[in-house]
Amino acid sequence: MSLLEILGVASEIYPLVKTGGLADVAGALPAALAAEDIRMRMLVPGYPAVMSALETAEEIYNFPLLFGSSGRLLAGRAAGLDLFVLDAPHFYARPGNPYNGPGGEGWGDNAFRFAALARIGASLGAGHLLPGYRPAVIQAHDWQAGLLPAYVHYDGGGGPRTVMTVHNLAFQGQFSPELLAPLGLPAGSFTIHGVEYYGGIGFLKAGLKLADRITTVSPTYALEIQTDEGGMGLGGLLRSRAGVLSGILNGLDDTVWNPAKDHFLPASFNREDLGPRAKNKAELRARFGLAPESQGPLFGVVSRLTWQKGFDLLLGALPVLLEEGAQLALLGSGEGWLEGGFRYVSDQNPGRIANYIGYDESLAHLVQGGVDALLVPSRQEPCGLTQLCALRYGALPVVARVGGLADTVIDANPMAIAQGLGTGVQFAPVSQAMLEGAIRRASELWREPEVWRRLQANGMASDVSWREPARRYARLFRELAG
Ligand code: ADP
Repeated sequence: MSLLEILGVASEIYPLVKTGGLADVAGALPAALAAEDIRMRMLVPGYPAVMSALETAEEIYNFPLLFGSSGRLLAGRAAGLDLFVLDAPHFYARPGNPYNGPGGEGWGDNAFRFAALARIGASLGAGHLLPGYRPAVIQAHDWQAGLLPAYVHYDGGGGPRTVMTVHNLAFQGQFSPELLAPLGLPAGSFTIHGVEYYGGIGFLKAGLKLADRITTVSPTYALEIQTDEGGMGLGGLLRSRAGVLSGILNGLDDTVWNPAKDHFLPASFNREDLGPRAKNKAELRARFGLAPESQGPLFGVVSRLTWQKGFDLLLGALPVLLEEGAQLALLGSGEGWLEGGFRYVSDQNPGRIANYIGYDESLAHLVQGGVDALLVPSRQEPCGLTQLCALRYGALPVVARVGGLADTVIDANPMAIAQGLGTGVQFAPVSQAMLEGAIRRASELWREPEVWRRLQANGMASDVSWREPARRYARLFRELAG
């Protein structure tokens, strides 16, 4: 196989800048694809965290003015990543979150900040900025890079092929129609066949309409977003592009998440020897102030606390969890009404329900390495990462049957168990009653230690790494490259 050159364009990248799963994918894909003879270089904005991490940087292009900022395109290395960096201080030299100002609102010039990224990406990919650099395919991630396929399209033929990748359809990048000319888009692009979206300019819509291929982060989510309910305004468009739309699961970085070598855990363990896990469970109970024993399983949560994640349903289902003699250790932060709700039930049920409201990476590892089961009651979940961690760490995922949760957990129903299969518990539809049923079912399984150990071992044998996803992306890129 010959080496294939791909350009990725993303607004965040792990470990430099991260607000969500997009960063994990952008950071992990290049290394995963290297094993497939694909060289993927990522173009990212020059936020302060990126600029200060650059170990080497070479200026390859200097522009006096692009959408109101001067800037430079750099090629460099940071944190083991081969990067192109758009250094446009007027746009990116701002503290904190990449998208929002101090008040939590999106920056007023976000249209220009991210159109600049897409514009430079399109020109770089077309071979105009760096002599000899001509990637076969550009992969544009989420709405921030959504205009890239539009720029390639309206620049005329002969450009690179494009893939639009959706990590969460809820974020679409919708802006005023007045910006059409200022963003360098031709008047003719303002139609339903171009960038127009409900009277404005839709960045993600443009990418979904004009890219050669569309991917999203699980096969089930790829189907869900084609429905009126799951399409969030884009269902019809996505149905019309069903032939070029596919779902490829995210992988887990198995160097960060490895129970056999995890310095956040008091005791390491593996599939053959789960015994040491008990020590993590004891430590976790102590850290959370939970009683050292219980009549049911210890359930855990590691999540943003939002309506989308279904935690109002869990609040409602807690009486059933208590009835089963189980415990809950919740690590999360998010919407105030949910944080308040879990604080209240913890106060009411000392020793049985406990929470840590905040974001804590080391505690996330301890929860995964110590709980019996992990609850993920999401209403929507494009892929989901925590259930993959749970599988790898011998915590049984108890999940809503949606999106990537449906694709990664094998329900331990009676037939599955009879055949030695199953890695967790699924429930559908996503309702409090069904969640209650899943909690009861998990508790019953837990009371059968042999079955439970089998399910744990099955989960730990699941391949949740980047290997298979990388193969699928590689196949897609090679097909597109012809
Ligand atoms: P999303 O990207 O929608 O938040 P994912 O399941 O795809 O959900 O990814 C969430 C990631 O963030 C996981 O790696 C999880 O471990 C981590 N995480 C979420 N909440 C917390 C928290 N409170 N503390 C530590 N890690 C967290």
